[in-house]
Amino acid sequence: MKNSGILIVVSGFSGAGKGTLMKRLLEKYDTYSLSISMTTREPRQGETHGKEYFFVTKEQFEQKISESGFVEHAVYCKHYYGTPRDYVENELKNGKDVILEIEIQGALKIKEKFPDALLLFVMPPSIDELRRRLIGRGTETKEVIEQRLQRAIEEAEDIEAYEYIVINDDLEICVDEMHQMILASHNAPTRNLKFIENMRNDLIDLSKGE
Ligand code: ADP
Ligand code: 5GP
Repeated sequence: MKNSGILIVVSGFSGAGKGTLMKRLLEKYDTYSLSISMTTREPRQGETHGKEYFFVTKEQFEQKISESGFVEHAVYCKHYYGTPRDYVENELKNGKDVILEIEIQGALKIKEKFPDALLLFVMPPSIDELRRRLIGRGTETKEVIEQRLQRAIEEAEDIEAYEYIVINDDLEICVDEMHQMILASHNAPTRNLKFIENMRNDLIDLSKGE
């Protein structure tokens, strides 16, 4: 029996490498659909509207909230971020594995709404390396980096809400590990209740000689 698609949430400290990992995962495996979020933050150099994010104004974002257009949304370091509802619902309906790369408040809301969602938390190999990556990326001011590190302290409190941690040391190894975790998660009994129920019923029929 073919497994249906699952919702996969990927979170992690800013600079841990989530964006890099997602890009490589999608290049390497063509089975995933990545949701593109909407945000009110400014685009970084090289980011384009509709690719990394849909960049909108606060007014546009609030309009979409009022139309119930998000599966979840949150405020992170003074900006709105949200997951547009239509894409996620359509892709899941088509049996695709849908990835949401979102922060922890959003992840917890998703877990409430979709108890079968798989929650993965990306960690750097060390905090020294996290600092190097955040500074090395060169896209944020010192002040914003400081805000993001403060936020990481809060996020670290809730890591146990996730099913697996993913350590992003060697990128290629990490991508393959993540793919394997997702494959294995498809086979969790809780994600195959119908299949199990059918097999139980067939077993009872067999024992009756039907
Ligand atoms: P996030 O999306 O989690 O904020 P990014 O994907 O933007 O993080 O990565 C932050 C920085 O770390 C980038 O400059 C990226 O090139 C670098 N990076 C990501 N993964 C690795 C890795 N496995 N090894 C070394 N550098 C990495
Ligand atoms: P960045 O500004 O570095 O792209 O993202 C900041 C944080 O917002 C990251 O932790 C990222 O995962 C998260 N994020 C991105 N899109 C969404 C979203 O749609 N919803 C929520 N809740 N968080 C998001």
